[in-house]
Amino acid sequence: MHDAIVIGGGPAGLQAALTLGRTHRDVLLLDAGRYRNDPADAMHNVIGHDGDTPAQFRAAARRDVARYATVSVRDAEAFKVRVLDDDAPDRRGFEVSTADGTETARRLLLATGVVDELPPTPGVAELFGTVAAHCPYCHGHEYAGTRVGILGAGPHVGHVAGLMARIATGLTVLTDGGELTEELRAVLDARGVEVVTEPVARVEPHTLRDGGAGARVVLDGGTAVEVGGLMVAPKQRQAAPFAEQLGLELRDSGSVAIDAFGRTSLPGVFAAGDLAHSADFPTAVSSVLAAAAAGQMAAAALGADLLTIGR
Ligand SMILES: Cc1cc2nc3c(=O)[nH]c(=O)nc-3n(C[C@H](O)[C@H](O)[C@H](O)COP(=O)(O)OP(=O)(O)OC[C@H]3O[C@@H](n4cnc5c(N)ncnc54)[C@H](O)[C@@H]3O)c2cc1C
Repeated sequence: MHDAIVIGGGPAGLQAALTLGRTHRDVLLLDAGRYRNDPADAMHNVIGHDGDTPAQFRAAARRDVARYATVSVRDAEAFKVRVLDDDAPDRRGFEVSTADGTETARRLLLATGVVDELPPTPGVAELFGTVAAHCPYCHGHEYAGTRVGILGAGPHVGHVAGLMARIATGLTVLTDGGELTEELRAVLDARGVEVVTEPVARVEPHTLRDGGAGARVVLDGGTAVEVGGLMVAPKQRQAAPFAEQLGLELRDSGSVAIDAFGRTSLPGVFAAGDLAHSADFPTAVSSVLAAAAAGQMAAAALGADLLTIGR
């Protein structure tokens, strides 16, 4: 029986494995090889790694973890998790099934992340992570000196417009037939933001006059808005079924409910990264460094928890 199984090999899971490895915990990390920032050509706002590709970051993190003999990393998908409810306290724990069989651990740390559901506009998926993005901190500065589009009419529009107004030469909100609230409309008017309400037919890649990558947002009537970046607002869902299998408490957002130490509603199960958030934040805080920090915190709490059973 391992001390812990970490499911997930993104920044949250890799940092958790490192923290546990530092105290010589016997840890198995399982990684299905699907990462949220897979579509991104580069990672930003990550100190020490700004501009690296996500793959470079993970490779460096895996090299760090490989220095600790008690940590093993396996490229394998976990399918099922169940509680081992044994009377003997040292046999209590969790069983995790993979295609190769089952593994058991006294404690479980979920770091399986989320999946983005993009707006259905044709062409957005192909550009997501390069010309289309959801987070100005991750991909915003790269669009400096161009007109930037903001797709949608939801509450994200005002926030994104406020942040991008400092970077872009001009902003166009494309509501795609949606209606802005009067309050939001006033905020956009005050900032001089152009608003286009006509439905969007498709988004296509386009080379800007200076040779840079951009997009044409083609409207139903056939006219097009040329942009250097397009901000979109995907919805997120859990990437793995384990919160459901274990009956973990979820927040309204669908994230796994955790406390500040990454403890879930089920004793012995910890969670970190995009899949979870604590009540201290209105929503999941999703970034590479926030996920790594949460992984470190949850791993330290897991280690402390193991001490309480004499491990
Ligand atoms: C397009 C895009 C660009 C982004 N750019 C940036 C950026 O520039 N800077 C920044 O700070 N943030 C960026 N982010 C956000 C960042 O990617 C996430 O906040 C971060 O990856 C969250 O880390 P995580 O470890 O929680 O999840 P992830 O990185 O998504 O990792 C999840 C892990 O769980 C594993 N997994 C899932 N299910 C299973 C299973 N059943 N069995 C085994 N393993 C499983 C996966 O294989 C993966 O290893 C971006 C996000 C997107 C969508």
